[in-house]
Amino acid sequence: DDFLFYLMHRWLHENKWMLRKVHSVHHRIHNTCALDGNYFHVIEFILIGSLAMLGPILLGCHLYVLYAWIIIRNIEAADGHAGYDFPWNPLRFLPLYDGPVYHDFHHARFKGNYAGALHYLDKYFGTYIKEYLRYKQEHKYPGSEVKNEAPDRIN
Ligand SMILES: [Zn+2]
Ligand SMILES: [Zn+2]
Repeated sequence: DDFLFYLMHRWLHENKWMLRKVHSVHHRIHNTCALDGNYFHVIEFILIGSLAMLGPILLGCHLYVLYAWIIIRNIEAADGHAGYDFPWNPLRFLPLYDGPVYHDFHHARFKGNYAGALHYLDKYFGTYIKEYLRYKQEHKYPGSEVKNEAPDRIN
């Protein structure tokens, strides 16, 4: 799901028509709050919802697993747009998750940091925002030394 979200989100930025007519609705917000995680143009809402449902449909999961998945996706969307960088955020315990600052930089700089929850894709595709990497080097939390290492490739 995160890989497909990365590809779709990057396409929404690289396709000029989709960016101007569809994704720009979500980018009206420069200083995000948790509710903005579900503030989209209807076309983008259908695209994101379809991608989120693809895995459960292909796997034929139980309805309760689907409910849990939708809750997890909404918690991730809310946290990614929360606008606060608390060191005690419980989601920081998730491996590879990098907190709301990652997506804050996407809203502030508009280009780069395209992944949903797992930012490793920006590392591999070279789409990290340089200012974000500098921020992460300057703002380390106790126990996060390994997690916040600068990636090998920088734009
Ligand atoms: Zn975007
Ligand atoms: Zn956003």
